[in-house]
Amino acid sequence: MRRGTIAHLDPAAPSDSTVRRSFPEKRTTIAHLDPAALRGSCTVVVGCQWGDEGKGKVVDVLAERADLIARYQGGANAGHTVYQREEQFILHQVPSGILHPGKRCLLGNGVVVDPVQLFAEIDNLAGRGIETRGRIGVSARAHVVFPWHVALDNAAERAARRRIGTTGRGIGPAYEAKTGRRGVRIADLLDPARGRERVGRGIEWARRRLRELGADPDDAGTIDDALAVTGRLPEVAADVGEEIAAALAGGKGVLLEGAQGTALDVDHGTYPFVTSSNTTAGAAAVGSGIGPTAIDAVVGVAKAYTTRVGNGPLPTAFDSEMDALVRDLGGEFGATTGRPRRCGWFDAPVVRYAARVNGLTGIAITKLDVLDTLPELRIATGYRLRGDAGVPFPACSWQLQEVEPIYEVLPGWRSPTTEARAVADLPRNARAYLHRIEELVEAPIAMISVGARRSQVIRAD
Ligand code: GDP
Repeated sequence: MRRGTIAHLDPAAPSDSTVRRSFPEKRTTIAHLDPAALRGSCTVVVGCQWGDEGKGKVVDVLAERADLIARYQGGANAGHTVYQREEQFILHQVPSGILHPGKRCLLGNGVVVDPVQLFAEIDNLAGRGIETRGRIGVSARAHVVFPWHVALDNAAERAARRRIGTTGRGIGPAYEAKTGRRGVRIADLLDPARGRERVGRGIEWARRRLRELGADPDDAGTIDDALAVTGRLPEVAADVGEEIAAALAGGKGVLLEGAQGTALDVDHGTYPFVTSSNTTAGAAAVGSGIGPTAIDAVVGVAKAYTTRVGNGPLPTAFDSEMDALVRDLGGEFGATTGRPRRCGWFDAPVVRYAARVNGLTGIAITKLDVLDTLPELRIATGYRLRGDAGVPFPACSWQLQEVEPIYEVLPGWRSPTTEARAVADLPRNARAYLHRIEELVEAPIAMISVGARRSQVIRAD
């Protein structure tokens, strides 16, 4: 027997016909986590929602059993927060595995590399006692983010009629330059004359564009400014695809760490309110320089509720009171920008979509503890669009803006989960909530995170 059926409708709900309640005595709960989801030597970790799902924490936990951790897309717009003992580290460029001594951390060709941020982070880690020498490699095929990309990013947002809400770190313009074949790669900088020439061309283009956007062309900076910050890149240049292939051939474990989330993927997300790269698991192969057949497992990370930073639709958004409460409980402020994140109920259609697009072998549910005090919880089981129920996650942002979530209400557990280390330690209602998520998203739960610390986790194996 699976679950209870509709018993009555919730009169408090915004629309009676869209809310169902579940009853505890009829519900089944998860009994154990599926270990098969985490098995394999090459595992991708990918966000299932709008980013900030806690991928850094999940990678940090999985990194224990990996030898090499690589990022495959995004740039310094990603912000992963990880803890070592009581110390907090916020990483924008360096993979989260860096806190595990001796592991090799790589940035693949799909990443755009901000040298100022990268070396500031490396120096900061070294200053805090984390040995980074010989442990960080950056693909020579990766593109570099320069000050003119930042200037273009800010000028474009200022001039836009409809703002995307970018992090202002130059990521979009750097990817545009890459696709426009105007980019500067680390490989270019290995030859100083060629590097100078490519940088000069980049600046010329940026000056023209800044003028068009009504900004000061001098914001593009000079060739010497640009080259002053790239000087250390050659010392970390690497052939990332080759390193990963050699590690796998030698029986080592590899983790490929995604940034942002599925709903922000430039193809599969809520376009145009998306990031500039493919965030989904397919990009892990392309962005790290290996073939897709080398990947054994894909773990999707989803928060036990939903958040979104930046602009664009969020169907399950809370009302303002709940929004403030959960933002506070979950500390939902951007790690990169400090911007408050919009919060909402768990949106199963988004995560189910993520399970399919990424081919998930398992799901890691994070921040379950944030819901510990809530008397009851809602899960959006589907969407209704102009009277039609059962519409899938739509391709159009404007349709997502219009959908009405179909909610199911489950009772809260109202007791702390932060000390749980096994499924059996969780309150029954928390297990029921997770079980319902597992059913709705059609992917097995492989890990549950119940706090920000490394130890606050329940894992399948
Ligand atoms: P990422 O970009 O996906 O790595 O996510 P962020 O690091 O931006 O946001 C996740 C935030 O939640 C960080 O501050 C983490 O320390 C924190 N976090 C991760 N997992 C948990 C959890 O299970 N419970 C709580 N309370 N916080 C968590």
